[in-house]
Amino acid sequence: MSRGSVFTRAESPASAAARARSCLRARSRWLWGVASLLALAACQPQAPAQDDSSRSAPVSARQASSIDHELQDPIWGELERVEREGRSHPAASEHVLHEMQPRTAPGSLARVQLLALRGYLSTEMRDAALTASIIKDLEEWPNEARRRAANLALLYVRARQQRFNDGLRQAERTLAPLAGYTVQETGPLLLLRCHDFLAYVQGDTGNVDGAIANATEALKLADAVGKPWRRAQTLSNLAFIYHQAQQLDQARQHSEKSLAEASLDPSPALLYDVYTTRGIVLQTLGLVDGAQQAKQAALDAARQAGSDTLTALALGNFADFHLNQGSYTQALKFSEEALSLALATQHVDYELLSRHNRGIAKIGLRRVEEGKREVLAALARDEQRGADTTVANAWMELGMHLERAGDLSAAAEAFHQHRRKIDKVLRDETRKTLLETQESYEDERRAKEIELLNRDNSLKTEQLRARDLQLRLWAALGGCIVLSAVLLGLAYQRIRKTNRALAHSNAALKMASERDPLTGLANRRHFQAAIKRLADKGKLSGTVFLIDIDHFKRINDQHGHAAGDTVLVEIARRLQATLRDDDLVVRWGGEEFLILVNTREVSYASTLAQRLLDQIATPAVRHGAQQIPVTASIGFASFPIAPLDVAVNWERAIDLVDTVMYLAKAHGRNKAYGIESMQASDEDGLQELAKGMEAAWQSGQVQLLTLNGPARFEESRL
Ligand code: GH3
Ligand code: MG
Ligand code: MG
Repeated sequence: MSRGSVFTRAESPASAAARARSCLRARSRWLWGVASLLALAACQPQAPAQDDSSRSAPVSARQASSIDHELQDPIWGELERVEREGRSHPAASEHVLHEMQPRTAPGSLARVQLLALRGYLSTEMRDAALTASIIKDLEEWPNEARRRAANLALLYVRARQQRFNDGLRQAERTLAPLAGYTVQETGPLLLLRCHDFLAYVQGDTGNVDGAIANATEALKLADAVGKPWRRAQTLSNLAFIYHQAQQLDQARQHSEKSLAEASLDPSPALLYDVYTTRGIVLQTLGLVDGAQQAKQAALDAARQAGSDTLTALALGNFADFHLNQGSYTQALKFSEEALSLALATQHVDYELLSRHNRGIAKIGLRRVEEGKREVLAALARDEQRGADTTVANAWMELGMHLERAGDLSAAAEAFHQHRRKIDKVLRDETRKTLLETQESYEDERRAKEIELLNRDNSLKTEQLRARDLQLRLWAALGGCIVLSAVLLGLAYQRIRKTNRALAHSNAALKMASERDPLTGLANRRHFQAAIKRLADKGKLSGTVFLIDIDHFKRINDQHGHAAGDTVLVEIARRLQATLRDDDLVVRWGGEEFLILVNTREVSYASTLAQRLLDQIATPAVRHGAQQIPVTASIGFASFPIAPLDVAVNWERAIDLVDTVMYLAKAHGRNKAYGIESMQASDEDGLQELAKGMEAAWQSGQVQLLTLNGPARFEESRL
């Protein structure tokens, strides 16, 4: 497993950055000039509604000139030099800053910046007493004018402290108010630092969306500041986030840009950062030579910087390269070196990375049990820290290497755990997205309600008009009865028409909220509703198939995301074509589909599973001129579970199907595994057997049906 070096990851804010740049181009640029700050403020996209009233107000001339004045102090140049040096030599830099402190005015922005830098260094050195004294200085801030800046610096130092004390989520929460701070209040550098750091933390906790947003802000600030070394660092971080978000093209482009910027004003620590990200990105792209060169360059730069911390991480990443190549002896050597440096510098991330890599190396060297123990111990500690993304990746890597080492049942279990964890990350992320979706949904709903009210009003108007007509009719008494009837009929028709329109728009709304927009299949929301109909008192009756496309990430990487989308749409179409109208097909996750069939016939289930395998794989999916071979792994089971007809709720049912699906993956993919029977008399018994599904299968406590997809698929491992 690899790790990025600094603190960020992000989406390309190409348009936003270009916007920021073009806003800036028109103005003369002197360092921290008021024009840049105004431009930056003007280019900031969202104005979070916080307690801060100054944000939306225009910057007053006095405010702007005061910040301009403060930023022109030559001490900022000195601070920048120490900042750059600090990454390689925290103790020496902290000493310099300590000496400099009296030269910054109490209550000035320069003092805030200096304390933030000292906070960075003290936490980097794990010097709790020093950190506490810096926090105290910030808490007892003497000046009203820069109090907001001091507050933000305080949050930053606290968050860093929490992060190193294993509280990633706490750190994320601490910096949550960041969105309410402005450049006018804090200057660009502190803001940049905070966005960078928060993005880094969010990348680890699995909040990729948040990480992207914050790293994007950081890049905008770096653009405005206009120093190549800052741009290089931010771009490198951005590339790393793209990598985490599995957008490898973007990751590569940003990594290249960052290398170009770094070459304008290089330093060992900067080159180390830039090459570290590059090595990670190229390795994932399968560009072995480039990855090796970059990782070697990162290691050389770390050594040149004379920093044990940087060297620890560079060695760790080098170990990962060798794991990837299957050179386990080398990997073991590098991870051991990395571990001793990580322990000496008390860097918990790097320590766990080294322990993980060392464990994997041992598995590769056939010291499977010992290696597994080591990986699991590191994993448990990462779990405790809340590093969900790391944990998810660690399970995946463990699974792959156990699979290589031939420990298939443990591999299946690791894949299963990976999935659960990724699900959790996704769920956290999804929860956020869902909240947003919910919000926009609520907005829509409100709009709809207003529309409905309007219609309701027109309905009432219609009714009034109808009544009016009646009155006139009565008034016209002896008038033409036929005409009255026509008028009444007209009024009635209008009312019916309005009602029909209402019913139609409600149905459309319901439909849209229960469909996956890409494939048009039902989504999870629809599934929840449907399952209620099929499950008697929560217990499921029917057959469930879980289908996961094999190596879908590779399809995206090799053919592009649009091709990936085409595959999803086409597979969705084939699934529907294979099934009966009353079967339910759901887009369960990214490249996963769930099918619910209202029958328990084993022969039907296995025939259907075979047909699904065949239909998915043949013919290859066409995307433009490309022919994309696709296969899938399938898990399935009929409920209640034979032979004792144990009834289960639907969550447990999906869990069981998921377990056999992963067994099918671990056994080579392009297969369908179905549960025929399990020797258990209740749900707990089933769960016990499911924990060691492969062993239970081998000992005969579980009977599985195993089917193979079309043979032309050639599995290339990893
Ligand atoms: P495995 O054989 O083990 O299932 O490997 P995999 O690569 O299929 O599995 P993994 O879960 O690692 O990757 C799934 C990928 O699917 C990651 C994600 O980028 C991609 N994906 C998810 N949703 C979409 C989508 O809507 N469109 C496209 N093009 N890709 C998607
Ligand atoms: Mg999947
Ligand atoms: Mg897949």
